[in-house]
Amino acid sequence: MTTPDLLGLPATAPGATGVPTAASPAAGTASRVPPPAATPPPEAAGATWPGIGATGRQNSQQPSFSPELARRDMPILHRTVNGKPLVWLDNGATTQKPRQVIEAVSGFYGAGNSNIHRGAHTMAREATEAYEGGRAAVAQFLGAGSPDEIVFTRGTTEAINLVAQSWGRANLGPGDDILVPVLEHHSNIVPWQMVAKETRARVVPVPLRPDGQIDLDAYADRLSMRTRLVALSQASNVLGTVPPVKEMTALAHRYRAKVLVDGAQAVAHFPVDVADLDADFYVFSGHKLFAPTGIGALYAKPEILEAMAPWQGGGNMIESVSFEQTDYAPVPHRLEAGTGHIAGVVGLLAAVNWLTGFDRPAVAAYETELLGYAQQALATVPGLDLIGSAPDRIAVLTFTLAGHDPVEIADWLDRDGIAVRAGHHCAQPALAHYGLASAARASLALYNTPEEVDQLAASLQRLQKSG
Ligand code: PMP
Repeated sequence: MTTPDLLGLPATAPGATGVPTAASPAAGTASRVPPPAATPPPEAAGATWPGIGATGRQNSQQPSFSPELARRDMPILHRTVNGKPLVWLDNGATTQKPRQVIEAVSGFYGAGNSNIHRGAHTMAREATEAYEGGRAAVAQFLGAGSPDEIVFTRGTTEAINLVAQSWGRANLGPGDDILVPVLEHHSNIVPWQMVAKETRARVVPVPLRPDGQIDLDAYADRLSMRTRLVALSQASNVLGTVPPVKEMTALAHRYRAKVLVDGAQAVAHFPVDVADLDADFYVFSGHKLFAPTGIGALYAKPEILEAMAPWQGGGNMIESVSFEQTDYAPVPHRLEAGTGHIAGVVGLLAAVNWLTGFDRPAVAAYETELLGYAQQALATVPGLDLIGSAPDRIAVLTFTLAGHDPVEIADWLDRDGIAVRAGHHCAQPALAHYGLASAARASLALYNTPEEVDQLAASLQRLQKSG
């Protein structure tokens, strides 16, 4: 058995040989398809408890995709809510978990639980191998050069705060600019405001065009030799916009600015390649990638990571401690104080295996098709306005409905078993761009179907008829 099989990883990412179709959100940016990883993840010998190894569908020889295949793995999608079959359209908030992830986490606690890195016993070794195997899988998933470029965090928010507190404090000063597009999630705004206040740097908003694209002329105008950082998401959680991150990054680099890419809404939808993007930092949350909550990752270029000081002190991040002198461990461990979310990493590894077991360009093309179908279906609902219409986008449909408050819309749909989100979606500046404080949002994933979209449209039509 080869090493990738032990980890449940396909030898190469199934998406690696595919090319995005014209219909895929990756249209014109075939570079989002990652090349085959240069180095396979390390041995995970010993990490053999149920759920961690070759139990998943991902070990089938040929990658393929259909929403039915994905649905079959999702136990929760077979429950009812308010007497109706669940229609989960709240994937932007969190995705559901395949049985492979549930079994891996439960298998770890049932047979593999141990702390890592310290003990000399078998189970500590097994857990360490699984944890470090997870790091290698994330590196491969993102197209990073080495597992050492991956720091585990609680999620996107913590990863951004880590960069703000460690890199930001050391590299920002009075008069420096941090460019932040108006469509960003609060977690890619507030940490920069906090560190800007401390360092007397400035957070400079980059405006949007009416359709929800970033105004690239305004972006170019705002870039200068004062710009230290551009913080932008690869997909907007409220407008769905997928900005030209690679091009924006190249432009920022001309001014020697660093670029942090928030991949929270991107990773589940299309293949990511940090090397091709030339991103300096890339962050994401496991729970939006079919993995457990409480685990996520930061990728950083090795030379940047190497220079980053610890932001939290404690166990696991030191080489030696005395009252005279404390020496820190090398990265990434220097940035991971305390016991990490070991079961979360086990679940994240299983989720990455699950998703990469599908033909990812086919997943992206399907989601784009479903988005088009949903846009047409919602256009039949009287008084419904979709917010954001950028041409390159993920399947996020944020909308208002004349005469109905977003919370009322979500309540109504919930009675039909349909889960959508209502509120400001942690993106108040993006909504304010449209003169709104709140909206309803249906966010789709690979396991959603046209029938579910029909149910959404039909329920909204009934709401409009009800008065
Ligand atoms: N960025 C974006 C674009 C998001 O959609 C989210 C979550 N909605 C976050 C950041 C924050 O993610 P988390 O709460 O998992 O840290």
